[in-house]
Amino acid sequence: MAAFGKIKKQIKLIKNKKEKIKMPNPKRRMSKSRTNKRRTHYKAAVPALGTCSNCGEMKLTHRACPACGYYNERSMFLPKS
Ligand SMILES: [Zn+2]
Repeated sequence: MAAFGKIKKQIKLIKNKKEKIKMPNPKRRMSKSRTNKRRTHYKAAVPALGTCSNCGEMKLTHRACPACGYYNERSMFLPKS
């Protein structure tokens, strides 16, 4: 009977630990409206485009031109094909 009492005590301890492990949670559910209002700021940024000084093709600024491989009037790589 003594062993049974020990097991009961262990179960009690585990139960108490579970209560202590509880994580912080929001007090109230956030409304769809509030969530959507926050998400209005999540937008895709327009990439900064410029023209290549070597070939005049549209390219991303501060990147080598994918069409001719030039950056700052110097050849960085030879484009495929
Ligand atoms: Zn180019």
